[in-house]
Amino acid sequence: MTPQDGAVLGVFGLMVGSFLNVCISRLPAGQSVLAPSSRCPSCATPIAWRDNVPVLSWLWLGGQCRNCRGTISRRYPLVELATAAVFISQGVVLGGSPLSDPTLAVPLASRLVLSALLVALLVTDLETFRLPNPLTFFGIAAGLCLSAIGPLGLWGGLLGASIGAAALFAIREIWKRARGVEAMGLGDVKMLAMIGAFLGWPHVWVVLLLSSVLGASIGIGLTVMGRGTMQTKLPFGIFLSLAALVASLWGQVLIDWYLGTVLT
Ligand SMILES: [Zn+2]
Repeated sequence: MTPQDGAVLGVFGLMVGSFLNVCISRLPAGQSVLAPSSRCPSCATPIAWRDNVPVLSWLWLGGQCRNCRGTISRRYPLVELATAAVFISQGVVLGGSPLSDPTLAVPLASRLVLSALLVALLVTDLETFRLPNPLTFFGIAAGLCLSAIGPLGLWGGLLGASIGAAALFAIREIWKRARGVEAMGLGDVKMLAMIGAFLGWPHVWVVLLLSSVLGASIGIGLTVMGRGTMQTKLPFGIFLSLAALVASLWGQVLIDWYLGTVLT
């Protein structure tokens, strides 16, 4: 990827991250992400465009509202920077000239849409323990459409979504019967269906494996540090999101390595 492509993807990522912040703030409350325009969370004053430039406005205003001096969360610039970093990484892993090569248009769009959804779901789950339906349902539909016109194909997307939903639903039921607690919600089931719609079924197993290892490590770590018990509810969507980001970037490398070294 050329430095120019990287710069364009980075700026685009900052702008998309700015919109993701609106989604993260409004979707769990059932509010529209299109109207009204951005407002200060404390005093509800509409934010002028010059105070709404990703990262820069937050730095310039010292993380405060121009009108009421209320604190604007660090989450805003962090989500914008994270989205930019993930977008650039997807361009690097895809290789070639993703912005001028027409054959890479669909694979790039697929990677960027999935990445944006994963960032939004991760932060929303962290803040509210919820994975809003508008994000997961939009994601399943977008994943199927992009797979249908891409290398994976419609059946590849449908198979990935079905296996993702079925696998996590089965784990959820087994856990419920064995431990008597609801370890994860249906939001997690829909989220893995979404991931499968974008990445296909082999990647679903990579995501399940990575997220379980990550979730178990964090759960055991918190228990050892006395910050929780084995019954503490963890927002599993965070681990699904991180695992899916890894799988979308290096899933094929992991699968090839597994098939090549572990099974032979
Ligand atoms: Zn304010």
